[in-house]
Amino acid sequence: VEAGPDYPDFDTAPYDIRDNSALGFLEHDWGFVARAGDAEVPLLRGRVVGGSSAVNATNALRPLESDFDRWVTLGLEEWGWDDCLKAFIELESDGAPGPWHGSNGRVPIRRYETSELQPFQGAFVHAALRAGHQWVSDLNGPGAIGVGPTPMNRDRNTRMTAARTHLDARVRARPNLRIRPGAEVDRLHVQRGRVHAVSLVGGEMIEGDVFVLCAGSVGSPLILLRSGIGDSDLSAVGVEQVADAAGVGRHLREHPAAMVVFEADSAEMRGMFPVAQTMLTASSGLSDDALIDLHVIPLTIAPDQFALMVSPVRPLATGSVTLRSASVEAHPSIDLALFGHEHDLAVGLRGIEIARSLARDAAFDGLLGAELAPGVGDDHVALTRAIREAPSLYYHACGTCSMGPADSPDAVVDPFGRVRSVEGLWVIDASIFPDIPSTPTNLATMMVASRCAGALSDLI
Ligand SMILES: Cc1cc2nc3c(=O)[nH]c(=O)nc-3n(C[C@H](O)[C@H](O)[C@H](O)COP(=O)(O)OP(=O)(O)OC[C@H]3O[C@@H](n4cnc5c(N)ncnc54)[C@H](O)[C@@H]3O)c2cc1C
Repeated sequence: VEAGPDYPDFDTAPYDIRDNSALGFLEHDWGFVARAGDAEVPLLRGRVVGGSSAVNATNALRPLESDFDRWVTLGLEEWGWDDCLKAFIELESDGAPGPWHGSNGRVPIRRYETSELQPFQGAFVHAALRAGHQWVSDLNGPGAIGVGPTPMNRDRNTRMTAARTHLDARVRARPNLRIRPGAEVDRLHVQRGRVHAVSLVGGEMIEGDVFVLCAGSVGSPLILLRSGIGDSDLSAVGVEQVADAAGVGRHLREHPAAMVVFEADSAEMRGMFPVAQTMLTASSGLSDDALIDLHVIPLTIAPDQFALMVSPVRPLATGSVTLRSASVEAHPSIDLALFGHEHDLAVGLRGIEIARSLARDAAFDGLLGAELAPGVGDDHVALTRAIREAPSLYYHACGTCSMGPADSPDAVVDPFGRVRSVEGLWVIDASIFPDIPSTPTNLATMMVASRCAGALSDLI
């Protein structure tokens, strides 16, 4: 049951779904606006079969072993690295060598050859190497840290969306599968502690024994809250609480980002595409529990603008998703808390220093002009004001229905997505991550989903 449209024939899907350089700003978005301090930012979320995987940048990094070590430390020993690695290997089809890669999975992973790099991307690699960063041909390899081609779930320049990789013609022909596009879920109905139906906008009810909510880090908490599954404050917006689940909508995690934008030689932009090809992973030296806490990504963002996007990928700030009203039409209140923690800000400022020094390298001579943003000097007070006034994000929201052990008061779901406070309901999407990985979240979501789905099918 999906609010957006379905495109079973990918070749005739609209351009913004097919082209992996078209980043979700177009037709298939929910139009959410989030708060980040005093600023407001669009929080893009895909509204189409395939979800945000159908509008995203196809960066296919896996979380690091240390990310899952943190999940285990939170009491989730089911999510140790060995089990997760096995599931990643099953998921992917990657030509890169190494026993940590699979070659028969549904998701193809590709990297650009050096000879295919745009002048700006090639210059970025040269600058990073000269600054002492290591060349890494496989950023998903164990211990990889440095600059290299971004692993991407793409086929040439087309996006390998989750719908394209997982809902192929054979799957769609299964007699027990019916896909309902254009059907927006209003809420779930609970009777005697068990979910027995879901109602759609327009009033249609669908009854069932088992419900799996996969509406993402904004949609899943909203549906739970509208259904009365949340904390006791729900009555303030006219919703009767039917199950106590205090963690719903809390612990929203996101990777903040700052854009260092330069004028660029449009003749060298080569029509702007592809927008992204390479990236740098680095350490700011400021995080205790993560070696890699910074990503720097070179992007062509306009016909004459080039940006180095800097993201502190081990952020500590937490935000929230709450209801403004019980009505499905009301937009939620979303607080992203971007750069809301001093640590995230300090790592971000260090990232801007790194980005600026890379941009000064001779490799960019003749390609880059003046800095357009943040456009202030190195003074931390001015820089802080500039990035807090115009924060950006990497679009990896997670954690709003987080999993946890039975004794964790805020755990909405058990280690495989079963909602703790009602029967017959699972949440399986990025909202159940107990902590944000230090990487983009798409592959992680698919891996978590495949393991939770396996556990669920063993049960029913
Ligand atoms: C612009 C953008 C760029 C990104 N770039 C990358 C990247 O390069 N690499 C990466 O790894 N990750 C990236 N991500 C993140 C990644 O795509 C997400 O983490 C992942 O898709 C999350 O999957 P999900 O299943 O949790 O939610 P989603 O993919 O958001 O799916 C939720 C689905 O539920 C539907 N839905 C929600 N509410 C309702 C309702 N009430 N009724 C019916 N249907 C509903 C939505 O329409 C949507 O189809 C990006 C995300 C965005 C938005």
